Amino acid sequence: MWRVYCTDCDEVTLVGCSELTSVVNLAPGVIAVVVQCAHGHHIPVLTGRATVEERTWKQSS
Ligand SMILES: [Zn+2]
Repeated sequence: MWRVYCTDCDEVTLVGCSELTSVVNLAPGVIAVVVQCAHGHHIPVLTGRATVEERTWKQSS
């Protein structure tokens, strides 16, 4: 499951694998997934190496 923020609903929601609509490999280890909230809004989520590196960078700065 993913905990995502839907800008259309203006709320955080949990979505499962069944709400996953597409997966795109942007670069090695960098993945963009699109999930759908309960109201049908599409929410892009960036995951993989880019988010880990970004998190590491934020923690060390
Ligand atoms: Zn929504």
